[in-house]
Amino acid sequence: MTQRIPVIEGLFAELPEGPRLLGSRCAHCATPYFPRSPVCHHPDCDAGRIENRMEDVAFGPSGVLYSHAVQNYPPPPPAKFDEPYQPYAVGMIDLAEGLRVLGRIATDDFSKLQGGMPVELIVDRLYRDGDGNDVVTWQFRPAEAAGHRNQGRRKP
Ligand SMILES: [Zn+2]
Repeated sequence: MTQRIPVIEGLFAELPEGPRLLGSRCAHCATPYFPRSPVCHHPDCDAGRIENRMEDVAFGPSGVLYSHAVQNYPPPPPAKFDEPYQPYAVGMIDLAEGLRVLGRIATDDFSKLQGGMPVELIVDRLYRDGDGNDVVTWQFRPAEAAGHRNQGRRKP
C-alpha cells in the first residue's frame, strides 16, 4: 500500500481541518515565521532574548500568488522528481497571516497563473520513491480549483 511520507518532518501537517504549514509567531510583536523559529528576529522586538515567547502556529490554507516562475528543466541533485521530468511552477505566496512563502503551484496550465490570484494550500506528491511511497510536500493550487477537481492527488 502506498504511503504518504513528508519530504521533511515538521514543516507541514495534514490536519483534520486541512493542510497547514507549521510555523511560529512571536508572542511579543506577532511577527510570523515559517519554518518555526525559536526566537524572534524582528529588529524592533526584544522578545528574542526571552525564552518561550514564540508560539506554534498552523498557517494556511488561503493565500494570494505574488509571483511565479516555471521550472522548465530538471533541477540538479539533490532535487528528486518523477520521470519523465515535467516542468512545474514555483510561486511566492502571500498567506493571509502576513507571511510570504515559496511553494510549488499545482496546475496544468501555467498561462493561467498571475499575480494576485487566490491560491490554497495542499499537500501533494513531490515524487514516488523506490519503495512505491509518495513523498509529499506542501504546494498551492489556484483556489477556483477547490472542490471541482482533485488535481494530481493520489489516495493513500
Ligand atoms: Zn517579536
